[in-house]
Amino acid sequence: MIPYGRQDVTQADIDAVVEVLRSDFLTQGPAISRFEQEVAKKVKAKHAVASNSGTSALHIACLALGVGPGDLLWTVPNTFVASANCGRYCGADVDFVDIDPRTWNLSVAKLQEKLVRAKKEKRLPKVVVPVHFSGQPTDQEAIWDLAQEYDFRVLEDASHAVGASRNGEPVGSCRWSDITVFSFHPVKIITSGEGGMGLTNDAELAERMEMFRSHGITRSPQRFVGIDLSPKSATEPRSAAPAWYYEQQTLGFNYRLTDIQAVLGASQLRRIDLYVERRNELARRYDAALKGLPLQLPTVMPGNRSAFHIYVVRLRRNPTPETHRRVFDELRQRGIGVNVHYMPVHLQPYYRQLGFAPGQFPEAEAYGESAITLPLYPELSEGDQDRVIDAVKAVCQ
Ligand SMILES: *Cc1c(COP(=O)(O)O)cnc(C)c1O
Repeated sequence: MIPYGRQDVTQADIDAVVEVLRSDFLTQGPAISRFEQEVAKKVKAKHAVASNSGTSALHIACLALGVGPGDLLWTVPNTFVASANCGRYCGADVDFVDIDPRTWNLSVAKLQEKLVRAKKEKRLPKVVVPVHFSGQPTDQEAIWDLAQEYDFRVLEDASHAVGASRNGEPVGSCRWSDITVFSFHPVKIITSGEGGMGLTNDAELAERMEMFRSHGITRSPQRFVGIDLSPKSATEPRSAAPAWYYEQQTLGFNYRLTDIQAVLGASQLRRIDLYVERRNELARRYDAALKGLPLQLPTVMPGNRSAFHIYVVRLRRNPTPETHRRVFDELRQRGIGVNVHYMPVHLQPYYRQLGFAPGQFPEAEAYGESAITLPLYPELSEGDQDRVIDAVKAVCQ
């Protein structure tokens, strides 16, 4: 079976990991901040906070933004459940904004309509989580303008889009958002085994994410509240806290990344441009080979460079759930490890039990009944890609 996605691990990655295993620190060592700095530099953000998954990065990002009970988080239905769950972890309510039928990303027009209604009903969101679906950047400038007008925070879920850019601006620079989150799960663009990162240009948000990542503890003297470090007289300097001293100031978690994972991520980061280039190359090959078929192929908007985390096609001829299922099963039977990204999140039993129902987000629902993810990863050979293409032609013609 040709899988839909697969990590690429080189000898250099293995050597980097082995070196950490022989070093003094397996976790909480120097590799974490090195990895953070390298990612921040790559995407032109000021601060980076690594954590043990994209999901935990989303959770602490929401906490840092002050999301809590009574608040509202909006995201899209066409995403992995984690983009919505992060709001639920904080006790907030979640709602969704339908997608654009061309880009399969958040529809800015629908967002605007929903904001107008929400303002009248006095139920505006605290945070909106746009997802750079499949690696294609969302229309962040427009979302950011709306954020200023309607006073909400913007948390970009860029789990698919490490290495993507928009009009030359790297995804993760947070030029049009408060925080951007990456995932380093093995199916994503680069991997640290498990892992994630929150990027921001706001030092306060970065420090809050660091605290929530590690038990709510701070070791920054300027933040201490439980010890009097003020000078005894005007001529004396501020005194220092004891060397053992730290403070738990809020309830946090152990969401730390290990040094073992961080060096793997850092080693992979060196090849990110090659990976994204190769993914784009394979995507163009799919585009050329599949264009005569009754399929909707990915549309990359002008100015966008997609990271092409996944290559999705949609059935255009008779896209009923039955056809979808048949095409999917036939491709699997031919050894093609197709997948579906995503069944709409609001139709998951957990979200239905919160009151969501079919019909609420028609574009995402129609999308979910017609989308098929084809194999795409840097090490996919052209021969294997041709096998995928032949199978798709045979099944979809
Ligand atoms: C993978 C993914 C996540 C979660 O990342 P993990 O690192 O697996 O926790 C969140 N959002 C989206 C859109 C993803 O694809």
